[in-house]
Amino acid sequence: MIDFKKLADIIIANQSFIITTHVNPDADAIGSEIAFAKLLSKLGKSYNIINHSETPYNLKFLDTENVIEKYDEVLHKSLFNSSDVLVALDFNRADRMVSMQKTFSESEKIKICIDHHQDPEDFVDFQFIDSDDAATSHILLQFIRETKIVDINKDIAVPLYAAIMTDTGSFRFERTTADLHRLIADLLDTGINPTEIYDQLYDESKLSKTKLLGRCLTSLQLIAKNKIGYMIITQKDFSEFNALESDTENFVNFITSVEGVQIGMLFIELKNGFKVSFRSKGKIPVNKLAGIFGGGGHLNASGARFRDSEMRDMIPKILKEAEDFFYNYSKG
Ligand code: 5GP
Ligand code: MN
Repeated sequence: MIDFKKLADIIIANQSFIITTHVNPDADAIGSEIAFAKLLSKLGKSYNIINHSETPYNLKFLDTENVIEKYDEVLHKSLFNSSDVLVALDFNRADRMVSMQKTFSESEKIKICIDHHQDPEDFVDFQFIDSDDAATSHILLQFIRETKIVDINKDIAVPLYAAIMTDTGSFRFERTTADLHRLIADLLDTGINPTEIYDQLYDESKLSKTKLLGRCLTSLQLIAKNKIGYMIITQKDFSEFNALESDTENFVNFITSVEGVQIGMLFIELKNGFKVSFRSKGKIPVNKLAGIFGGGGHLNASGARFRDSEMRDMIPKILKEAEDFFYNYSKG
């Protein structure tokens, strides 16, 4: 059980906050930041939202007042030492902040983490983590409901809904419970429009993204008796279609949508190194597979980043590890 009273006490007792989230933010990351910021505003607190990454274009509608800033050491370092509280949302390992990690870690201000991932690292003063919750915004929503710290109006309902909807795969993943639906019903009561929110998140794709998806899908290969599938996106693909890393969100799910495939892996070449997204069906713990490479995440969705290594050289090694992992797991 998360100690919501403690979280409320920290918020009430302090005045200025820095809110941040993980690299390559998704809707739960940005939605949770915006919802938390609106909560602080209602209480008359001041805040800055500072992220390592640019906000992906399909999430910009959540940042209605255009307040999210991209981290710049010269501009922001002093703020990390003058604000009362640093708030880490939707991640629980310091290296997920990339360029901001050092500044965050060196600050002596109060640090809190609100998150729903497994295996938290000890990098803050107070953790408010429950890996059984469907999203970081699911935790925020329960916090607001239970403490009644602010009223839930449309302003705050939109980012919370966008966050929870996306992190549950549109209310279909395992942690979609009756209780979650009851909480969501309260959000709908504020007058938010699910169709509009869904369209803004998923149905306003740029042509570049759809073209990149086409290229990515043609790279699909199956191994391990068709139980494992993988796809590859190179820097050349990105530049050919003028697409961005954030455009690749959800591509990986096409792999496990193929009949019989149990594990999907998407290799994405970055400007510096590469990342791998892992997805699985059933009880296969791909967070453990990602863990072999220093990554992590959830049972069915995880990832790992490789800095300063060549994707081409590493793919055969990672495929071999994945096959071994799968056979060991199948043997029980
Ligand atoms: P995605 O594949 O969508 O980028 O990430 C899926 C999940 O894996 C994320 O929600 C996050 O929990 C986890 N994840 C992705 N990349 C990393 C990483 O580099 N390190 C860790 N620890 N977790 C990651
Ligand atoms: Mn999340």
